[in-house]
Amino acid sequence: MKFIVDETLGKLAKWIRFLGYDTESCFQLDNPEIMIKAMDENRIILTRETDFSQNKNLNLQVVIIEFDNLKEQLLQLKKQLGVTVTPEQFMRCSICNSELKVVDRAFITGKVPPYIIKTKSKFKYCSTCNKVFWEGTHLNGIKKLIKEVFDA
Ligand SMILES: [Zn+2]
Repeated sequence: MKFIVDETLGKLAKWIRFLGYDTESCFQLDNPEIMIKAMDENRIILTRETDFSQNKNLNLQVVIIEFDNLKEQLLQLKKQLGVTVTPEQFMRCSICNSELKVVDRAFITGKVPPYIIKTKSKFKYCSTCNKVFWEGTHLNGIKKLIKEVFDA
């Protein structure tokens, strides 16, 4: 299952990436362009726009997200599409959707503050953003919500 979100759902996109799903956010595209990309790449469109045109003749799946609240949005995806935690959890860059690489201390030396290298042991790297990620305290909040919604 792959997704494409419009500009109404930037935050949700990040969270679906946390779960491990390939999720493009195309804020610079208009609706017809989003539809073409979705069909080309076999992606489900997620939007808050209740009038998003759904041409039934097209091989296209559009899900109108009914809630503003992030937790409710995730629950809707769970109920409606069976979205859940995947084996690729936390292996996608939440910013750009690229796959992250697990990297070692030698690789990140000079890229992150020295105290991070001393205190953390697991690092992931996005070559598109040139950004190193590590398990910080913010991850506890993310994991908590994921557990609440998906019981995983
Ligand atoms: Zn990235």
